[in-house]
Amino acid sequence: MMRRLNLFLGIPFGPRRFLILLCLLVVAACDRPQVLHKGQWIMGTVVEITWVGSPASNRVIKQAFDAIRAVDNAMNPDKPNSELFRINARAGRGPVTVSPNTCRVTHEGLRIGEETGGAFDITLGPLIRLWGWDTQHPRLPSGEAISVALKKTGLGGVTCDPDTHQVSLKRKGMAIDLGGIAKGFAVDQAAKVLKTGKIDNFIVNAGGDLYASGGPPGRPWRIGIQDPDDSGAIFAVVTLSGRAIATSGDYEHFFIRNHIRYHHILDPATGLPARGLRSVSVLAGTTMEADALATALFVMGRKKAARWLARHTGIQAVLMDDRHRIFASRSLKPQVRWKEKFKQLVTYF
Ligand code: ADP
Ligand code: MG
Repeated sequence: MMRRLNLFLGIPFGPRRFLILLCLLVVAACDRPQVLHKGQWIMGTVVEITWVGSPASNRVIKQAFDAIRAVDNAMNPDKPNSELFRINARAGRGPVTVSPNTCRVTHEGLRIGEETGGAFDITLGPLIRLWGWDTQHPRLPSGEAISVALKKTGLGGVTCDPDTHQVSLKRKGMAIDLGGIAKGFAVDQAAKVLKTGKIDNFIVNAGGDLYASGGPPGRPWRIGIQDPDDSGAIFAVVTLSGRAIATSGDYEHFFIRNHIRYHHILDPATGLPARGLRSVSVLAGTTMEADALATALFVMGRKKAARWLARHTGIQAVLMDDRHRIFASRSLKPQVRWKEKFKQLVTYF
């Protein structure tokens, strides 16, 4: 007997992580493959894998989680044995040889930095530490301290040789932070493991950085984008298959001082949290790209981001500004549904 099963996977991340809700409407029947689901706490967020198959795929699922953990172990600068820790510890004292993966993510980070006019900047380590965004207790630094930290940043201070896998930081006190790109790369790594393991219909979601392959039987996956003002609600649903979406927002990692919201996405030009937007979701071919570009477009602000997107037609985005106005790529129109109360606020560009 066919049974209609409404499966709503709301994903409660840790207190400081923002989330994307997955809305899956699945027609299930006993003789059809099941939609299964597993979550683990990695990279400071709940990483979730949803897949269509049987519990027999558990071994592959475990390997996919292991792939994500391996990225964290290599690229988390706060882990004393990580490759990032070693790079930063040797700042100003010559190159460090790292794994091909760490070299690749560093290299991609630099490339996206260049391509976004410096809005994405993997050398913000000193500023992120100063603000305490790498801790549970972020703080408001003095203007003077921000100026000092800013002097230790700059994409020109990193060299990264893709052949020898050597990375070096020119000056003492510099530090690489891959927090805006590594999670996306980790999702891609997990997706690769799943595909190799013959799982074709799945979603890997690391705190809102997500890759969707295939779909639940008979339809593409449907992904909800969170309302920045209501952690239990979404403002849009996009359909997705064979592509990634990542969201950067100001609503999970923040503190409020004197009615001003300070959050963890920093403008490399000022060392201060980027202003103007509340949420940016980017759709791209890889999660790594979507992740980094969501951060970069957030920094650019609405106007610059729209101009950048006009020149990069393979990338799509949904932006919400601090007046709740929504701006979306026109090519997304057939693929996106807005929740009723937001419909009037949407402009396509
Ligand atoms: P989340 O970590 O919540 O998924 P993002 O993908 O937007 O959010 O990444 C934000 C993280 O990236 C920050 O915590 C910090 O480590 C780093 N970061 C902050 N500002 C920038 C920036 N302008 N360029 C690159 N990385 C940044
Ligand atoms: Mg990002």
